Amino acid sequence: MDSHAILWPYDERGEPGDFFYARYGHPIVAEAEARLGELDGGTAVLFPSGTGAATALALATLRPGETVALAEGAYFGTSRLFETLSRWDLRYVEFDQTGPPPPGTQLVWLEAPSNPFLTMPDLESAAAYPAPVVVDSTVATPFGLRPLEHGADYVLHSATKYLGGHDDVLLGVVVCGSPEAAESLQTFRGRTGISPAPEPAALLLRSLRTLEARVRRQTGTAALIAERLAAHPKVEIVRYPGLGALMSFDVADGDAAKRVETSTRVVVNATSLGSVTSLIESRARWEGDRVPAGLLRLSVGLEDPDAIWADLDQALANA
Ligand code: PLP
Repeated sequence: MDSHAILWPYDERGEPGDFFYARYGHPIVAEAEARLGELDGGTAVLFPSGTGAATALALATLRPGETVALAEGAYFGTSRLFETLSRWDLRYVEFDQTGPPPPGTQLVWLEAPSNPFLTMPDLESAAAYPAPVVVDSTVATPFGLRPLEHGADYVLHSATKYLGGHDDVLLGVVVCGSPEAAESLQTFRGRTGISPAPEPAALLLRSLRTLEARVRRQTGTAALIAERLAAHPKVEIVRYPGLGALMSFDVADGDAAKRVETSTRVVVNATSLGSVTSLIESRARWEGDRVPAGLLRLSVGLEDPDAIWADLDQALANA
């Protein structure tokens, strides 16, 4: 069979081996899952995107009429997802994740740190709460935080971001604290067909070899940039939790934000985060008045720290 095979013959007794049809499992996907499981200290299940991972996890763990306690100010797409799922009577309430989850909810969904408000969840209160806890740890990465060690039941990553790191992979992963939970999620994945392709999984494996080095350098540069932004006269507030390489900062208004994002040269004006390339965008274009009009989200990449700063400094002159 060629390396692009999606099916494998049964053995001499006519029995399926570990791999027989790619919707149920693929050796490259399994290799990526083994590595991702080690990184977060659990059992990983890979999905075609972070949002696919979130959809599968929500549908596999919740019943109609149940309610998710969702971190306020977390990734916009996650609240859009739960808004969409409300047609099937899955409900959600937003809450301030720096405190305990609201009573009467059946799943707690946190983000560490939240995108783009950069708040950190109160993991201790969430772990003490009598419902399973999911931590979307896309921004923290396993080198910034291992939520399963703090009582979480599931860790979710958009592997499209830091884990992939090169803007050429769209994948997501749920790392489960218990092998039984992972098995049930795998069964759900095979039955619903939310299964990842092997090619992006191979690219992910390549990227994981440099993850630690990338995260360490990007985090170091981000700390420096956050400090310089905070001292800049055109910057009103900087949100940076002291972990990871994502931050947001506000300039005076939406017009000023537009002038800044369209005048950078090193930092690319595009959506997403976690890339080796620094990315900046005004989030109001997507999130409307859920965010301040002047909020710019900055994902710090691997470029020379002084080159990133010089670029932002010249762009801020237009704010
Ligand atoms: N979680 C967070 C924190 C994100 O920032 C994103 C995407 O921006 C997602 C989940 C969704 O991931 P994907 O784009 O891979 O579906």
